[in-house]
Parts: sequence; structure tokens; C-alpha cells
Amino acid sequence: MLCWPVINRVGGARRKRVRHKIGIVGAGNVGASTAQRIAERNYADVVLLDIPEAEGVARGKALDIQESGPVLGYDTQLEGGSSHAQLDGCDLIVVTAGMPRKPGMSRDDLVTTNQRVMNEWGAAIKEYAPEAIVIVVTNPLDAMAQAMFHATGFPRRRVMGMAGVLDSARMRSFIAAELGVSVVDVSAFVLGGHGDTMVPLPRCSTVAGVPLPELLDQDRIARIVERTANGGAEIVNLLKTGSAYYAPSASVLAMVEAMVLDQKRILPCSVHLEGEYGHNGIFLGVPVRLGAQGVEEIVEIELSSQEQESLDRSASAVEELLEVMRRGQAAGSGAS
Ligand code: NAD
Repeated sequence: MLCWPVINRVGGARRKRVRHKIGIVGAGNVGASTAQRIAERNYADVVLLDIPEAEGVARGKALDIQESGPVLGYDTQLEGGSSHAQLDGCDLIVVTAGMPRKPGMSRDDLVTTNQRVMNEWGAAIKEYAPEAIVIVVTNPLDAMAQAMFHATGFPRRRVMGMAGVLDSARMRSFIAAELGVSVVDVSAFVLGGHGDTMVPLPRCSTVAGVPLPELLDQDRIARIVERTANGGAEIVNLLKTGSAYYAPSASVLAMVEAMVLDQKRILPCSVHLEGEYGHNGIFLGVPVRLGAQGVEEIVEIELSSQEQESLDRSASAVEELLEVMRRGQAAGSGAS
């Protein structure tokens, strides 16, 4: 009969089984598909959480993904639920919880509603997983990352927003389609807030190392840039209900992988700027080095005056949302 203490013993010493535990808050489309992608990689156990009314959904999806393990060959342990305490022991947490914008709901209402969700889960993360790294996915992204940063009080290296990986993936696929080349050879660079004011940078986007402006004329580049900036809306218009989740969950996975495997990848993430790129006290998308410590470095590149202006415009759009949050907080509606 196999006995764990025996097979766990190597050279007389008991080998400690080290496995990451990743919490995913929000068991909707992005949350569940992120759980599935992480499970299939087999490098972390997963806890999938939602509101009490949707606890069965979270538990059911976790069980369903777990039962794919024997077919696909992974041992990932998954659990679902709605209790904050289930975050205990998580070293990485992905927050996808939030309300979609409903008919008749103003943008400001959406901001304060989702701000409350960040406040609730930020406090829970602080209590049950005080050393965790947090990736925020909930929209409006940069503002919600900022809300999470304040709610947890974590150092800036441990709170980040996912948007740039997705936006640049969209741009990469449009460039590849335009040129008829593999996406693998295309890199794209997108800065700024997540939304239609994002700043795609064609001169830093390359195909096999060749800058885009040497391969495409300005009109074709402008079309790609515009389609990238409207990439989320394009999917929403097609789906009619709900928004994208395959590419978003793939993008979260790239960030998770960079940290779990300490890859030191340079990826665009929304992070708290403290003077970098001329901005202070605001979350914006910039290239960072992601590794086991979280955001290990903010990579600053020199921008042209036109690029800096676009980034400043994007920051102003994020700042408007922060103002809504401040008003909500002052009125007590943003409190958890
Ligand atoms: P969804 O509606 O399918 O899932 C959201 C889930 O959050 C639901 O299951 C809901 O019950 C849960 N939820 C709501 N309030 C909660 C709370 N207080 N505690 C725990 N769970 C709660 O939505 P989705 O498609 O999965 O998208 C999730 C979020 O991610 C949205 O805000 C969406 O706009 C955003 N998003 C961001 C990006 C990006 O690039 N950053 C990309 C795609 C989606």
C-alpha cells in the first residue's frame, strides 16, 4: 500500500510539498475561465469565490473544472464558495468580481458599485492573505486597481491591474492578420488607461524586430490602432450580452505565469505611478517587469511629445473616475 510519509521521504528527510494557492474572486465568465486555464497548467490550486447567492455556481464550476483533470491530466485541487476566509493561504488573488453596467445605470453608479466590491474584498484579502499579490480585472480597470490598492494598503508591487496584456494581444492579432504573419513574431506596445483613451505605440510595435511604421502605411496603422482601442466594444457588440472573456483570461494567465514561475517578463500592466511617465498617485498601464515579487520594476521609455500628450489625456480620463470614487467615498456610498 502506498503511504505518503514513505513516498514523501527523500534521502531520509521529509520533502515539503510546495504548491501555490490562487484565489479567484468572481466566478463569472472571466473568473471561471481563468480558473480553468490555471488548473490546466497544474501549477497552483485554485479557490473560486462569488457572492453567497452564487455560491452554488462557484462550487459547481470549481467541481466541473476539477473533474476535467483526469481527462486532461492535471491534479489541480479546486474549491468554490463565498466565504472570505477561503482566501486563507492564497499567495496570488485575481479579482474579477463586479457588476456589469445595466440598462439605465450611469457610469458613475457602476464605478461606486464596483468600488464597494473592491473595498469588501480588499479588506478580506488584507485579513486572510496579507502577503498575497493581487491582480485586478474588474472594470473600470485602472480605477478599480486604485480602489484595491487603497483597500488593502499593500505595497504597490503587490497590486496591479490587467489590461495592457489584453490590449496588446488584440493589437498583435490585428497586425498579424493585416500582414499575413504569425502572431508569434509580432509584438505590440500599448500604454495608458484601459478604455478608448488607451495609447497604442506603433513605433514600439514590431514584426520579427522590424518596427511597424516600416511595414505598414499610416492609414493601415491608424485602422489597427482604432480597432485596438475599441477592441472590447467590438466583442460586446457581437455578443450582445456580456463581454470578452477568452482573451482576458488568457491575459491574466500570462501575468500569473510570470509571477508563479518568476519569469521576469516585461508586460504592460496597470500600476500605481509615483512620478514615472510624469504621473503621480494614479494607476495607469505601463511596461513592468513581473516576477515572483510582483511588479519588480517599472520600465520607463522616452515618449515623443505627441505620445506623452496622449498618455496625459488617458490619465485625465482615469482621474475623472477617481474623482467619482472620492465623491462616493465621501458620501459613504463607496464604503464597504
Ligand atoms: P460576469 O458578470 O460574468 O462575472 C462577474 C461575477 O462577479 C458574477 O459571478 C457576480 O456574481 C460576481 N460578483 C459581483 N459582486 C460580487 C461580490 N461583491 N463578491 C463576489 N463576487 C461578486 O462578468 P465577467 O465577464 O466575468 O467580467 C468580470 C469583470 O471583469 C467585469 O467588471 C468586466 O468588465 C471586467 N473585464 C475586464 C477586462 C480587462 O481587460 N481588465 C476584460 C474583460 C472583463
